[in-house]
Amino acid sequence: MIEPRRDVALMDGYHSPQVEVEVRLNTNESPFPAPAEWVTEAQALVASIAWNRYPDRTATELRTSIGQLHGVGPEQVFAANGSNEVLQTLLLTYGGPGRVAAVWEPTYALHSHIARITSTGIAEGERATDFTLDLSEVQRVFEQDRPSVAFLCSPNNPTGVVDDEATVRAVLELAIIHDCLLVVDEAYGQFAPWSALELVAEDVPLVVTRTYSKTWSMAAARIGYLVGPCSVVAELQKVVLPYHLDAFKQAAGTLALAYVDEMNRRVAAVVEERGRLMDRLAALPVEVWPSGANFVLFRPLGLDGATVWQELLDRSVLVRNCSSWPRLEGCLRVTIGTPEEDDRFLAALEEILR
Ligand SMILES: *Cc1c(COP(=O)(O)O)cnc(C)c1O
Repeated sequence: MIEPRRDVALMDGYHSPQVEVEVRLNTNESPFPAPAEWVTEAQALVASIAWNRYPDRTATELRTSIGQLHGVGPEQVFAANGSNEVLQTLLLTYGGPGRVAAVWEPTYALHSHIARITSTGIAEGERATDFTLDLSEVQRVFEQDRPSVAFLCSPNNPTGVVDDEATVRAVLELAIIHDCLLVVDEAYGQFAPWSALELVAEDVPLVVTRTYSKTWSMAAARIGYLVGPCSVVAELQKVVLPYHLDAFKQAAGTLALAYVDEMNRRVAAVVEERGRLMDRLAALPVEVWPSGANFVLFRPLGLDGATVWQELLDRSVLVRNCSSWPRLEGCLRVTIGTPEEDDRFLAALEEILR
């Protein structure tokens, strides 16, 4: 049998177990179903589509609506099947053999995973002990490894840390000096006190990625996008497969933007619930990190993280097991759910740690 590319053969796939459980708090989705009116209207859309025809290749209506949300034109918006496809298209365009992408760990594992898939080299920097960005370490990576693409994730997954504006501006200055494209992954941007979207401009090598998957209750729809300079968007449009966004997705994604106020109310509800969960965790024998997102990283004390993960699963509660990841030894990450789901999680955790 023909072997795959050698680096692929040696690679691990993406591991996040999809298990049937009663309480699913492992992939940072919204605990709320999509708005009911959106579902009804989306059903009508299905009937209106010319299914025998290819969809609009440039997804102009969707990109125009997204652009309006952020005060930019469609030529500054690139949309794809989830922000992971946005990241992949970025690396196919600006990474690849002979080029390097920089990450500062611990961060979103897909940044380096997609770099590997696209044969992009990886320059790995380290975040500080409290998981904030250390600018001298950022500078070291820029100078030593000369990356073509640099990834920041803010709020960061899996730690929940928000990079402040001064820090991101400083990293952007370094990116400009070193002729590098800075990608700020804002999958959880709706939770943060500020957004790097403010810094996007035509002559600045910065793109900001967002997704419908987390706060927007539409992970099943697989829609993500970036906002950046027109010239970058034009290059990405060359690289992505033609007609990659199906007609239903384009229409449903446009329609969803009529519900932004409702999405924002959900964000507020999740933030309030996050506060309650943090208070309850503070009373347990766990180390907890402050979070600017819809999840919380914690480390059970006195018990092995993998054991706690399994015991939660035995009680039909699924969280993310980060316990074997570098720098996160023994840690678990729990998504903020509904108050009922979080109570189930807390009761199970209390029982396990007692
Ligand atoms: C979930 C996530 C994504 C991917 O989201 P899509 O569902 O592909 O849009 C991207 N970045 C981060 C940091 C995430 O946590």
